[in-house]
Amino acid sequence: MSAGQRGGGAAQEPSEPTPVGVAIKTAAPPPRRPADGWRKGAPPIPGPGLVIETPSHVLGDELVALRSLDEIAERIRATYCCALCPTRINGVPGHGNPDARLVLIGEGPGANEDAQGKPFVGQAGNLLNGILDAIEVPRDTVYITNIVKCRPPQNRKPLPDEIAACIPYLHRELEIIRPKVILALGSTAAEALLGVRKSLGELRNKVHTYNGIPLVVTYHPAALLRNPNWKKPTWDDVRIVRQLLDR
Ligand code: URA
Repeated sequence: MSAGQRGGGAAQEPSEPTPVGVAIKTAAPPPRRPADGWRKGAPPIPGPGLVIETPSHVLGDELVALRSLDEIAERIRATYCCALCPTRINGVPGHGNPDARLVLIGEGPGANEDAQGKPFVGQAGNLLNGILDAIEVPRDTVYITNIVKCRPPQNRKPLPDEIAACIPYLHRELEIIRPKVILALGSTAAEALLGVRKSLGELRNKVHTYNGIPLVVTYHPAALLRNPNWKKPTWDDVRIVRQLLDR
């Protein structure tokens, strides 16, 4: 994956249009779907994948002292913790419902997010809204965050030391929220959360366990904007998430 290209993955066969595709093609609201329409043709919940426990030393005393998402956000905005911080306009903490049952995790803020200080507010965010809408999970019920909280220059992938400096915030966000399901968007998020180096193909279509919480991996929305062939597998992945939420 080259600099400025997020959320890579292996090519898939072209597929029939999906609600995800509708959201990509038009800014107009998607056609009304029958309630539970996402269920039709949904894949079964796949088998288990990796089981990960965050080592306690990753969350130092300083982070454990942060008792709420607001305190974490305040700390992110006020602190310079890696080489990405000096060039940011805004630190971009997670945003959303503190009681979320679903947490979505991207790679890092882009230009729009850097300007507004909120995650997924640009084109990829619009697509994410369409995806959530298609599985009947309103955006205001979820929490959305990133692996790194400051924009990497030219939207390049965050470097390992940048991820290492920032990821404790994410572990603490997840510890405070304790959602029912986590969705990792793209290989950077999946690998950083699961602590492995594997392709998206190897990590998709499994229910991993992160500190006891089911974790599903799918394509990054920015990757879908580049390659519509990934819409169908993404649609399958998010319908697995939806079933896990119902379980
Ligand atoms: N891409 C990401 O990974 N995160 C954002 O917040 C926006 C785009």
